[in-house]
Amino acid sequence: MSDLDLIIIGAGPAGLTAAQYGARANLKVLVIEQLSVGGQALIIDVLENYPGNTALIDEAGNEKAPPRSGYEFAMDLHRQAESFGASFLFGAVNSVKKENDCFVVGITDGTKHKTSAVIIATGAKPRRLGIPGESEFSGRGVSYCATCDGNFFKNKKIFVIGGGDAACDEARYLSKLTKTVVIVHRRDEFRAQKALIKRTLENPNIEVLLNTVIKEIKGEQKVSAVVLENKKTGEISEECASAVFVFAGTVPQSSIAKDLNAALDEDGYIITDKKMSTNIPGLYAAGDVRSGAFRQVVTAAADGAAAAHYAAGYIDELKS
Ligand code: NAP
Repeated sequence: MSDLDLIIIGAGPAGLTAAQYGARANLKVLVIEQLSVGGQALIIDVLENYPGNTALIDEAGNEKAPPRSGYEFAMDLHRQAESFGASFLFGAVNSVKKENDCFVVGITDGTKHKTSAVIIATGAKPRRLGIPGESEFSGRGVSYCATCDGNFFKNKKIFVIGGGDAACDEARYLSKLTKTVVIVHRRDEFRAQKALIKRTLENPNIEVLLNTVIKEIKGEQKVSAVVLENKKTGEISEECASAVFVFAGTVPQSSIAKDLNAALDEDGYIITDKKMSTNIPGLYAAGDVRSGAFRQVVTAAADGAAAAHYAAGYIDELKS
């Protein structure tokens, strides 16, 4: 069993930043990630709202390069964390137990790792709509990631479900691939940031259906139609569709915290104090999995930095 100071579960922007700060504080840091480094940042086409990640401009004021993509940004964060000495392990965590002042973290490969502190940075995953046809056509026209799957539907009619930042951002990405993107939102106003709403409404390739819900996704081998209901009039209509991209918010991946009896809010997000500390000494949470988070890359990074900083203080106290 390896002896560590800090284990970080999840390698999105929160986990990667925590790794960098932890390693720079001379802690023995291990990051455990079950899929790929970068988390949800990987699906961001242009990361234009991260401070400093702006377009490169030449002396004449012309744009030389756009802001880095989420993928490029995440790869840089990974390199940076490794350069300061953080280690990475790919596998799924299947148990975390607190034993006296230590945590023992078990991985599906059978290995166990002992550590003084744990930061949970497991993020959140897309919320499913739970309507007929959604799971049947998942991967055959139903998608939760425009940058991953948008290219399959070039010049096709695409429906986007949701009214938040993700729906607006992703609809804008899809509108570069086709002239017919239809956003279906259940209320009469968007909850996205004002600048995103403005750009969405001004986009000639995006049509918006407000007060409308999607009732069913239909098709044979792949998606061919959607059934919509106008919530105001009750009118039901069926429209041809090649793809449905769902951006109906996220659900937290907080089962590890739940198993440790850490406090969760009513939606299952992990409750922390301002030091990112949970109610369990030595257990911290950072990023999208944390209750009350703004859920931006920049706030995930800030959470990660704070969690590692306060975890380092906790470990110092423990050791002395
Ligand atoms: P979100 O802000 O929670 O928005 C989810 C949207 O889906 C809402 O408009 C909601 O409608 C709708 N919705 C929820 N359940 C639904 C259902 N069953 N049927 C139909 N519609 C449903 O989620 P998000 O847009 O995925 O964003 C998640 C977080 O990431 C947010 O904190 C966001 O700020 C952040 N984010 C930021 C950026 C950016 O800064 N560029 C980009 C992407 C995401 P109601 O409005 O009626 O509740």
